[in-house]
Amino acid sequence: MSRILIVEDEPSIRRFLRIVLTNDGHEVVEAGTVSGGLAEAAERHPDLVILDLGLPDADGGEFIRALRNWSDAPILVLSARSLESDKVGALEAGADDYLAKPFGVAELLARAHALLRRRTARDATREPLLRFGEIELDLARRGVTRAGAVVKLTPIEFRLLVYLATHPDRVLTHRQVLHEVWGPGHAGDSHYLRIYVGRLRHKLEADPARPRHLLTETGVGYRFAP
Ligand code: CA
Repeated sequence: MSRILIVEDEPSIRRFLRIVLTNDGHEVVEAGTVSGGLAEAAERHPDLVILDLGLPDADGGEFIRALRNWSDAPILVLSARSLESDKVGALEAGADDYLAKPFGVAELLARAHALLRRRTARDATREPLLRFGEIELDLARRGVTRAGAVVKLTPIEFRLLVYLATHPDRVLTHRQVLHEVWGPGHAGDSHYLRIYVGRLRHKLEADPARPRHLLTETGVGYRFAP
């Protein structure tokens, strides 16, 4: 059983979340404000936080920045705003994923399970060998194979793959990926990223036009699905 903190001021959505998550076997803790949410997080140490961005006392972004000072609990953002800048801002402040309102039960549970699974996996011993589909990524020997055959990657392609594959099931913004893989001077060079992700898909995906692992989040960034 996982403990999930819901920070949401809209009573009907909070009730919906509580029912769905309780039925799914989780313990639910609730707050309706940024300050209340931070107090509950400090006291109850949730395994996952589900956060509305529009809260009465402050912006959800403030919650994320404050929580990240002392907790790495995954944060799933709920946003009524379809603006990409809001999602990007929340992700860059330290959120892990987002759901646009309105959302369905299946979608909510899939995202929540992925974030909880990742937390369990990270708590286990770190394996230097990552496997997804028919791909094996050996972090210790810095090699990649596909169905047992060696795949040749350039140093940048390798670094990009390692960054994506070691952050599974979370949305990484263009700026975050560029900063990590190319360095601080390249935050605006998203065309590099498109080209290199395209090359990785051609080398690793069975159908590069319909990728299973290296997924695009339109207008926001990328998500790695193991
Ligand atoms: Ca709200």
